[in-house]
Amino acid sequence: MTMKVDPDMSFIKYLKSAGGDTLKNCYQCATCSVVCPLSKDGSPFPRKEMILAQWGMKDKLIGDVNTMLCHNCGDCNTYCPRGAKPGEVLGAIRAYAYTHYGFPQGLAKLASDGKNLPILIGIPAAIVLVLWLISGGMHMPEGPVDFGNFFGHWDFHWLTKTTFFIDIIFLPAAAFSLFAAYKGVSAMWNKMSESLEISSDFSPSAKQFTLEFLWPAIKETVQHKRFNECGTNVDRVKGHLPLLLAFIGLLLVTGYSFVRKDFLGLIYPNLHGPIPLYDPFKLLANISAVALLVGVAILWANRKKMEADGKAAPTFYDWFLIWEIAAVGITGLGAELLRWADFGVLAYLAYYLHLVSIFMLFFYMPYTKFAHMVYRTFAMAFEKYRESSFVQKESS
Ligand code: SF4
Ligand code: SF4
Repeated sequence: MTMKVDPDMSFIKYLKSAGGDTLKNCYQCATCSVVCPLSKDGSPFPRKEMILAQWGMKDKLIGDVNTMLCHNCGDCNTYCPRGAKPGEVLGAIRAYAYTHYGFPQGLAKLASDGKNLPILIGIPAAIVLVLWLISGGMHMPEGPVDFGNFFGHWDFHWLTKTTFFIDIIFLPAAAFSLFAAYKGVSAMWNKMSESLEISSDFSPSAKQFTLEFLWPAIKETVQHKRFNECGTNVDRVKGHLPLLLAFIGLLLVTGYSFVRKDFLGLIYPNLHGPIPLYDPFKLLANISAVALLVGVAILWANRKKMEADGKAAPTFYDWFLIWEIAAVGITGLGAELLRWADFGVLAYLAYYLHLVSIFMLFFYMPYTKFAHMVYRTFAMAFEKYRESSFVQKESS
């Protein structure tokens, strides 16, 4: 069988600039396929992907489910006799794919380049600042520091002014981010189906998709099962797990706070104030904040070590997420400590920076390394789908 090779030179150039500069070292010995837990008989992963990348076959690679399933354990990098770092090449392919699938394209491209960092910070900084000006909260609230008065105060006992403005900022941002992630994941799913020539006639029903493919993939992601197979990069598991649990904890706390302030607060106005320290959700929030900082510190140190050992290249794609998470943790904890110490201006400034960093983390989620969690979960669902009797039977 012959295959027409039409290399996309700009794609190769991108891979080299995004951590895959060792790509050309590969001489196809397949040692990486022997050590990679994802490799199967007849599908020598990632050796095959390395040659496709050398040939610049962009379309084949961004529709390749294995590329998305790689959990960057680093074993292939360690054992490659030529220092070709296949794990890093795959990371660069994924970074390219998230921009390619990103919706809208303009924002995806903006968030993929470190040169745009001032704009990426400036957008949420301006949005929060403008809404703070509009809210009329341009004064230091009197009395002890209370972030519930950040956007000012009104005598409308059903909903506090700050809750109202927080809703205005974050609900549309969260809805936009979810919609953008949905568009990106749908594009990836279609591309993978196209690569394997699975007809759209074989699409599962929503119930079948959720119960048989997505839910088991979510469970596997949360349990970090595949990360435990890592040999080289086991420290990433130590950082990843507390981070994942911290995000789940903070999501529960955010949900609780939303119900408490936006719904129950309409009936019981005394629920509008800060959540008391002894409240189980407040305890969960503080434990999750510590887990977030511990997790990101481990990932930070691990990334630095990998770069120092020559096992990874410093890329914006890798560091942007680490910076974002660190900013959320540091500003959140800083705001809380400054509030306890009642350092007025500094506490409100830390709170402002906390709002900006949370906005960045979620608004840019579909285009950053954070998106890997979402794309990879759906790739795992796709893996189960393509191996299901449903597809096997229909396509045979
Ligand atoms: S990436 Fe390294 S280990 Fe894998 S095939 Fe190429 S040279 Fe061999
Ligand atoms: S980083 Fe790990 S999972 Fe990814 S290709 Fe290499 S060995 Fe396989």
